[in-house]
Amino acid sequence: MFDQPFITDEHRMVAEAYRKFVDKEIMPVRHLVDDDKDHNLIKKILQAMNDMGHQKAPFPEEYGGANMTSTLPASMMHEELGRGDSGIGTAATVSAWAFMPAIMAGNKAVLDRFAPDFCGTELRMGCFAMTEPGGSHGGGGCDIENPTLKGKKIRTLAKLEGDEWVINGQKMWGSNAGDADVYCVLCTTDPNLGDEGIALIYVPANAKGLSFGKFENKAGMEGDRNCAMYLDDVRVPKEWRAAGPGVDAKLLHGNVVAARVNTAALAVGNARGAFETVLKYTEDRIVADRPIRQHSICAGMLADMAIGIETARAYYLNAAYMFDHPEIYGPPYENTMLSRASIAKVHAADVAVMVTNRAMELMGSYGYVREYNVEKYWRDCKIIQLWEGGGQLGRLDVCRGYYDCQL
Ligand SMILES: Cc1cc2nc3c(=O)[nH]c(=O)nc-3n(C[C@H](O)[C@H](O)[C@H](O)COP(=O)(O)OP(=O)(O)OC[C@H]3O[C@@H](n4cnc5c(N)ncnc54)[C@H](O)[C@@H]3O)c2cc1C
Repeated sequence: MFDQPFITDEHRMVAEAYRKFVDKEIMPVRHLVDDDKDHNLIKKILQAMNDMGHQKAPFPEEYGGANMTSTLPASMMHEELGRGDSGIGTAATVSAWAFMPAIMAGNKAVLDRFAPDFCGTELRMGCFAMTEPGGSHGGGGCDIENPTLKGKKIRTLAKLEGDEWVINGQKMWGSNAGDADVYCVLCTTDPNLGDEGIALIYVPANAKGLSFGKFENKAGMEGDRNCAMYLDDVRVPKEWRAAGPGVDAKLLHGNVVAARVNTAALAVGNARGAFETVLKYTEDRIVADRPIRQHSICAGMLADMAIGIETARAYYLNAAYMFDHPEIYGPPYENTMLSRASIAKVHAADVAVMVTNRAMELMGSYGYVREYNVEKYWRDCKIIQLWEGGGQLGRLDVCRGYYDCQL
């Protein structure tokens, strides 16, 4: 399955460990996740993942971490988690995403303050708070991460007062929002400065002036909770900005690109989970005297699903390898990598929606009931198509790798 020549035995061992974890801790209970409104079960699973060293993995060794910042094995881990439950996979992986700017920038003040906790035995959660609500004149949503808008639509304002940042604004939809211990908040010091004004600033959950809305009621992805976040004169030390003017913008765009690769993998895992189920079901269920999958019209549908999964996997692995080799393919914040990561994400999300939809079709009414989880895979993967720029901004970002796309 992970048979590309650039994948090492060590990478395969990471994937294997997560596959075993998913089989043991998630598969038997995944049908209970949607009703786990207080998140007791979900947090138990996240704690079990922490027990196997998941939480500390990306942090530097000096804090007790494993220094695992490579995107290739991380993407393979995302696929394995997506096969189990992409909501839990999201909640589990967003913490590393939130800390990546500080880790990449080697920000000692942020790491000294927060890394020891995240490298400890208790469950901790992080949130990458980028998205904002739209206003009457637009902005918010995709405009925040659209690289051509260069941070000019960001409305969360950070002002330096003495040795502190004072932050005012509102964030929306952050995964783990309301649950997280630490937030990496995307701000601007001045929207007119464009990329130079972009600031990624770390804010602990107990900061004065930070408050949250109620959890959103979504179609799926219950494992990942989201809510509005309000920052009202929140003060943090000035050293808690990830890096500085210009560099924070590169860290932001690089983080968006990494997320597109990883959520492509999450989508492939989700599709694989549904495909495994439908393969078995169409072997067991006899219609018109033969198993469903022995009818050519149905075999053709299964072939299309397999083609989608295999090509999406091959491409996200390729993009992950490229991301890990900026010396060959250029830095992650440039258009080549943005384009490749967007191809991976747009294609994989479309494949997951197609595969889960067809799996339900081939299973008839049984695809539509909760017992087989196929309808859950279908509900869960739809958001992968919509988030991180959606299919439309994603496609425009694909074009940026080929020509001077001015859209
Ligand atoms: C479960 C979940 C988890 C999330 N996790 C996080 C998180 O951890 N952190 C975070 O910051 N955010 C998170 N988000 C937010 C998510 O990334 C945004 O919702 C998403 O980027 C799109 O913003 P929007 O929903 O406001 O859509 P809009 O920006 O309103 O977009 C609507 C439509 O317009 C299209 N569009 C956008 N821009 C253009 C353009 N330039 N040209 C043409 N069409 C365009 C879009 O593709 C889409 O079809 C999450 C959302 C959900 C639901």
